[in-house]
Amino acid sequence: MGQPRRVDRGPLERPRDTAPRTRPMRRAGVSLPASGHVLRIIWPFVPVVVALALFSIASLDLLSAARAFVAGESQWSKGQKHAVLHLLRYGEDRDPADFDAYLASIAIPFGDHRARLELDRAEPDLERVHEGLLAGGNHPEDIPRMVRLYRNFRYIHEVDAAIRVWAQGDLEIFALHEQALALRRLVSQPGCDDACVAPVLRNIAQIDARLTPLERAFSGHLGQASRRVTRLLTTGSAVMAAALLMSAILLSVGPLRRERRLREALAQREEQLQLAVEGSNDGLWDWHLGHGELYFSPRCAQMLGYSGDELPHARETVLGLLHPSELAAFEAKLAHHLRSGEPYDAEFRLRTRAGDYLWVRARGRLVRGAGRRRARMAGSLTDISEHKRYETQLFAEKERAQVTLQAIGDAVVTADVWGRVQSLNPAAEALTGWREAEARGQPLSAVCVLRDEDSLAPLPDIVTLALRQRWHSRSAQLVQRDGAGQPGPVLAVKPSVALIRDRAAQAIGVVVVLHDISQERAHAARLAYEASHDALTGLVNRAEFERRLAAAIELARAQGVPHTLMYLDLDQFKVVNDTCGHAAGDELIRQMAEIMRGQLRRSDMLARLGGDEFGVLLEHCGSADGERVAEGLRHAIASFRFAHRQRTFAVGVSIGLVTLDRHTGSVAEALSAADAACYVAKEGGRNRVQVYHPLDSVVQARHGEMEWVSRVHAALAAGRFCLFSQEIVPVQPAALPPAGRHVELLLRLVDERGRLVPPMAFVPACERYNLMPMIDRWVVETAFATLAGRQAEIATCAINLSGSSLADIQFPDFVREQAQRFGIALDGICFEVTETAAIANLAQAGAFIMQLQQLGCRFALDDFGAGMSSFTYLKHLPAAYLKIDGSFVRDMLADPVNLVMVEVIQRIGHAMGKQTIAEFVENEAMLARLRELGVDLVQGYHIAPPVPFAPAVPEAGARPALALAG
Ligand code: GH3
Ligand code: MG
Repeated sequence: MGQPRRVDRGPLERPRDTAPRTRPMRRAGVSLPASGHVLRIIWPFVPVVVALALFSIASLDLLSAARAFVAGESQWSKGQKHAVLHLLRYGEDRDPADFDAYLASIAIPFGDHRARLELDRAEPDLERVHEGLLAGGNHPEDIPRMVRLYRNFRYIHEVDAAIRVWAQGDLEIFALHEQALALRRLVSQPGCDDACVAPVLRNIAQIDARLTPLERAFSGHLGQASRRVTRLLTTGSAVMAAALLMSAILLSVGPLRRERRLREALAQREEQLQLAVEGSNDGLWDWHLGHGELYFSPRCAQMLGYSGDELPHARETVLGLLHPSELAAFEAKLAHHLRSGEPYDAEFRLRTRAGDYLWVRARGRLVRGAGRRRARMAGSLTDISEHKRYETQLFAEKERAQVTLQAIGDAVVTADVWGRVQSLNPAAEALTGWREAEARGQPLSAVCVLRDEDSLAPLPDIVTLALRQRWHSRSAQLVQRDGAGQPGPVLAVKPSVALIRDRAAQAIGVVVVLHDISQERAHAARLAYEASHDALTGLVNRAEFERRLAAAIELARAQGVPHTLMYLDLDQFKVVNDTCGHAAGDELIRQMAEIMRGQLRRSDMLARLGGDEFGVLLEHCGSADGERVAEGLRHAIASFRFAHRQRTFAVGVSIGLVTLDRHTGSVAEALSAADAACYVAKEGGRNRVQVYHPLDSVVQARHGEMEWVSRVHAALAAGRFCLFSQEIVPVQPAALPPAGRHVELLLRLVDERGRLVPPMAFVPACERYNLMPMIDRWVVETAFATLAGRQAEIATCAINLSGSSLADIQFPDFVREQAQRFGIALDGICFEVTETAAIANLAQAGAFIMQLQQLGCRFALDDFGAGMSSFTYLKHLPAAYLKIDGSFVRDMLADPVNLVMVEVIQRIGHAMGKQTIAEFVENEAMLARLRELGVDLVQGYHIAPPVPFAPAVPEAGARPALALAG
């Protein structure tokens, strides 16, 4: 035990597996117990063998008896011969010793004679027979056989002849004895000489002579008898042997045939078993409870990655490989099986050679031996790792589905095809008011009470519709069950139904999902409200106002009914914001909305259009009434005092008023007109009502500006902006030779009819409506894209930036990103900012310039000198160039003040280490004067006109043909 068994075959060769398996099968009834089987085969031979044995014993007995008679005859003859001899000697020397010797010798034939006489009797005295034969010199052991031969074969011819010879001999013996007695008488008579005894001695000799042939005849008969017996026995033996052979053959045929049938059946069973085992791919094991050996087939070892003879066949092997957490359960199960005798079936993990664990299933049963004692346990081992994997997967799937169902927000109800509820998830319990336990088995229509949202009629049976594939998803009302089990509140739900099918695609149930849409509806309503209302005031917002305004304009156009539109902007609202904070500003806006609401009819619409701007639409209201209402609004607001922390504010409102009639254009036009009128009201001193008059010049200017806003948007969208470049050239001979050209980029808009529009036409509007940052970005991006690859030629590229870009904290990052994108060296970029824009927010501009300077950009202060306090601020602005305002340059030859201004700016610039640029240089005289003054660079039509730059157009002229005077 404990030593590996010798395995001659490889682990993959199955036939060895069959060896232990055949054992239980024999026990199962095909074979018999070994002892019974042997008996059945040998019992027919028993009588034959017994007969043969008896025959042999009898033969031996007979032959021994014959031999004993021959030996007895020899004794008899010897006794007779000695008797004659002693008598003859006695006759000669008459010594009584001789006579005694005679008597001793003659006693042998006499003994035999007595025995024979007794044997001839019908009921012989065997004692006497024994005594006689013993006296006859026979061996005591031979005597019983001699008796049996004599008595049993007495009448056999040879035996009978021998006995008759024996009887004849006995007569001669008696005759001899008479002669002996006569001799003794004669000898004892005195005077009896030799002659006297001579006749007796002759008689004696004659008797002796007669006895000799008798003895020979006796021997001859006995010999004949013995030979006959031998022949008989030989024949008998041959017959017996033949009979034995025949019977053996006859008796063996049946068992042999049965044996062959059994073997065939056995082989067939073995083959079936082997095929079954091979098909199942199982291993086999056999545990001997007595000496503890646990045999397992090579397949078991192979499952664990070992070769057939690598694992010791001992129970400890399994215990050693068992997963530690399953050891206790394994032992307990085994103990239970041994106690109860129930079939053993256990699943556990065994460590494989690779170190991981394999799930196996061991099945087996107890095998009892003699006396129903527990002898062995045998069974099979199956690799169930795949099965376990599926089991784990299945469990995980089920768990996932279960958890999903539990966690899902929608109500999920399953029912069978007869519409009986099977399950409800928690959401379904909450939604329907039924507990799963109560609902199970109830009709689905009782648990999910659904009805049409409009007619409130019960919905047709969902299950029937689903089974007929007639279900169409639509929202419905679900009647919930209240705590008392009665119909309770109603919810809007969207039911969806799906059939559950089995593998054969047969419907086995339905799953109904109820999605609670009441919240979604509330949410959608809230979103719709929020989309159309202003959160701060609760008034409708601009989008909604425009929508209703559009409807009103439509009506006015169609029916000619006048309406009044007002555009209101609170006056100096920023003051409240700035002094009291944004929250106070909000509160003021809210209160203003309240006040205005109070001045209007319910049918009038008040909207917050943004910031401190409001819109009012008075439908079916002519201009006179409109003006009155507007005045009422203005008055109400003006009389209001906004209080905040012991401070009160008087708030005014500027109102622009437009009457909508058949001639009103679009919503945008109407609003723009109202806004323009409002602007005029502001311009006119605020806190007033301005009625829109289309021919009013201020209104038109405002209107024109607003129109530019939409035109600029359209031009940007259509790509109708473009860049021109104008050369800036050095004029001082001392100036370092330029590394490349210096150009300023100039923005142009191509209008709808293809004409170039200069910036002063649209830039003020863009600045007012905060479009400049967008345009500046377009300029930077377009300029960089065009400059890419041309920086060797254009050493300095000047780009104008608006004041609003200076306030854009994202702008420096944008510049850096664009430079990276197009591979632009920023030290070739010079941004021109107007002095007024820079001074408007000095700190912001300073920081902005510093930030871009760190990236390498340079700066020029544009229109320098136009502002009043230029010089004061100059030291705070780290610009590289000063561009002398064109208005000074243009007239400098005619106006000495301007000439002085140019000179002063030039001197101060130089004093501060900045280069000066004069623009608007229109002739040679100006150029010469500027050179004299010491201006560094010049720009203007005399030097070079602006030429197209981007979108990239082949440049008309190369460097302007400006000869730099020495
Ligand atoms: P004006 O008389 O020219 O109208 O001057 P104003 O001070 O009223 O300034 P303007 O109408 O041009 O600007 C309105 C300001 O209102 C701009 C912004 O700072 C502020 N603002 C915009 N929306 C809100 C808001 O929702 N709450 C608060 N508190 N302030 C806002
Ligand atoms: Mg305002």
